[in-house]
Amino acid sequence: MSNYTIVIHGGAGTILKEDMTPELEQAYLSGLQNALDISYAVLEEGGSAVNAIKAALVILEDNILFNAGRGSVFTKKGVQEMDAAIMDGIDLSAGAVAGVRSVRNPIELAVEVMRNSNHVFLSGKGANDFAIKQGVKLEPDEYFYSQFRYDQWKAIRDSDNYSLDHTHHHLEELLRDKKFGTVGAVACDINGNIASATSTGGMTNKKYGRIGDSPLIGAGTYANNKTCAISCTGHGEIFIRSVAAYDVSCLMEYKNMSLNDAMQLVVNEKLVAMNGEGGMIGVDAQGNASLVFNSAGMYRGVKNNQGLNNVAIYR
Ligand code: ASP
Repeated sequence: MSNYTIVIHGGAGTILKEDMTPELEQAYLSGLQNALDISYAVLEEGGSAVNAIKAALVILEDNILFNAGRGSVFTKKGVQEMDAAIMDGIDLSAGAVAGVRSVRNPIELAVEVMRNSNHVFLSGKGANDFAIKQGVKLEPDEYFYSQFRYDQWKAIRDSDNYSLDHTHHHLEELLRDKKFGTVGAVACDINGNIASATSTGGMTNKKYGRIGDSPLIGAGTYANNKTCAISCTGHGEIFIRSVAAYDVSCLMEYKNMSLNDAMQLVVNEKLVAMNGEGGMIGVDAQGNASLVFNSAGMYRGVKNNQGLNNVAIYR
């Protein structure tokens, strides 16, 4: 029997206490705790890491506060296009979807891709067709709407049109005010199997079918029983270019680094050197957990059978 652990995140970025009301802070913390408790119960009953992280992500996707499923950010065209991935460290099986609309829980569709298709990564209309075929739950556009994300989008949707003047200065402030609300989970189960999952609406005002790191195996999501399970959040383009999640695994496999040392190196040195703001959560097959971010905050939580049970937001 192995130690078992679940770790979750709800996104990293410029999350500052002074921008938060006590009520909102409490809503985030209880949302995280709820996802942690439900997914931990799966592990406690002897459930698999894959089932635990899926349970965590469904709860976080359904929570309007996080940028995944319900409450996803708006694209340039004013719709939600969601990305998700899951990977099982036992056999390196994986499923991912990108640019899907109307799917209530993109993580469930990713699991369907992993288990019931001959493929790893489906996108756009094809992914939606597969969702219908598999009977994955769909919702109308209104379901995904949140006033908060709409206002965020409204503030920057016309920003390309502004020139280098006072307004541009304002735009820079808006862009600096980065909050990445992606959700993710990694777990080590009672049998020492590990798995990772990530789900996101991507980045506000994204265009041209932009896809981030979250659904890309190796970039935002990766799991291998030999090394680690990692889920990332942050400025996706940089995480893609640095193949961030797989880099942690490589440092462990080829350089014999510990989970925490490898994550520190990737997040606080390599990503920082590329201006890559964000963070990641990880577990290894011994149940060790690590949560590392280079931004002001990261919505996060960890619970294990050694009595650890924490949720936090700021540094
Ligand atoms: N990494 C995600 C993306 O670039 C955003 C996030 O972490 O919230 O799509």
